[in-house]
Amino acid sequence: MYETLGINKELVDKLDIAETELTNIFKKIDNDCFINSSKVMKAFQENRVSEIHFGSTTGYGYNDIGRDTIEKVFANILGADDALVRSQFISGSHALTVALFAYLRPNDIMLSITGTPYDTLHEVIGIKENKSSLKSFGIKYEQIDLVNDDFDYKKIEEYLKQNKVKLIEIQRSKGYSTRKSLSIKKLEKVIHLIKSIDSNIIIMIDNCYCEFVGTKSPLEVGADIIVGSLIKNLGGGIAPNGAYIAGKKELVDLASERLTLPGEGREVGPTLGINKSILQGLFMAPSVVASSLKTAILASYLLEKLGYKVEPKYNEERVDIVQNIEFGNKEDLISYVKGIQKGSPIDSYVVPEPWDMPGYDDEVIMAAGTFTQGSSIELSCDGPIREPYIAYMQGGLTYEYGKIGVLKAIQTIIDNKKQ
Ligand SMILES: *Cc1c(COP(=O)(O)O)cnc(C)c1O
Repeated sequence: MYETLGINKELVDKLDIAETELTNIFKKIDNDCFINSSKVMKAFQENRVSEIHFGSTTGYGYNDIGRDTIEKVFANILGADDALVRSQFISGSHALTVALFAYLRPNDIMLSITGTPYDTLHEVIGIKENKSSLKSFGIKYEQIDLVNDDFDYKKIEEYLKQNKVKLIEIQRSKGYSTRKSLSIKKLEKVIHLIKSIDSNIIIMIDNCYCEFVGTKSPLEVGADIIVGSLIKNLGGGIAPNGAYIAGKKELVDLASERLTLPGEGREVGPTLGINKSILQGLFMAPSVVASSLKTAILASYLLEKLGYKVEPKYNEERVDIVQNIEFGNKEDLISYVKGIQKGSPIDSYVVPEPWDMPGYDDEVIMAAGTFTQGSSIELSCDGPIREPYIAYMQGGLTYEYGKIGVLKAIQTIIDNKKQ
């Protein structure tokens, strides 16, 4: 059957060996998936989710009991007092922006302790000039870099003892960098340190790509507020768009008044028919995240055997669903990304090429044969065309489809080398 998809027998033989070797690692993922599924089931049952919650509102969106129930379900699952889950958030970056503008006031200090934040936040903060940035409102920004893929505990302590900081941002996933993503254990340690110096600091976590990887939420180890996208993990590939902000009630309320307007906050926001998709996506999410993890682990294993540098390695603990593959040369990177596109259900016939994307310094090549535009819980892969030629791959709605994509991508490298 593989051969009808253009995947050779030799490669399938390698796959068989890989899957045997990966049995125990996959078992651990299945176990986490069971725990996370149980959490989801319990939240649905405790909140008495019913067909009535699949209903819809238009216009102002007053009295949307489906939306209100969805927010309770999300809060339960994430270990939050409260949550704001809305399709009026355009993206994860938008939700992060709303949160930052909701909590920071002129002369406040925002501190990032994971180095430079995600690319899309540079103009939001004012790291890159923009007339609407936080900086333009007189909000100060400082950052402390990671050392050896861990927090710089000493520097953080010194800084907090000398400065009154309003908000600390922690980005768990690596984004477009080569550092490791940050585990819950490291988070717990740094949060404990911060709170012991100043318990009033708002600790905000960019939780993108990390939900349902493992079984603990950052809120369970003391974070105040977490933010993520619904076209990533928690949308389960079914939510059509949106994002969430979850955590302490007063912080969720502040965010709701910034998203809509002071005085109306969370009471407004029509759902326009998407409630069922959000609930069904969340229901599927533990299993979809597990499939994405298995897809990433398989890719990590096979590509390491082929001689490429991978991060994380197949047997390392994972914090998010992102797999870095360092190709070391332009040709293999491009072949791999083209192969991921060939192994996708949508636009498989389209050949992606490197292009000058707005906001990036180098050309970028992207594969996204997805049902939802920009969805990266679906198998997707992109790489900036610069040394050392790294592809960032993530997603996979089912392991079987993820596997087809990865095999097709490897086969494309092999075929292009022969030419
Ligand atoms: C995806 C992501 C975001 C937000 O991205 P959007 O594409 O705007 O949803 C923010 N931070 C990290 C680390 C991410 O991976």
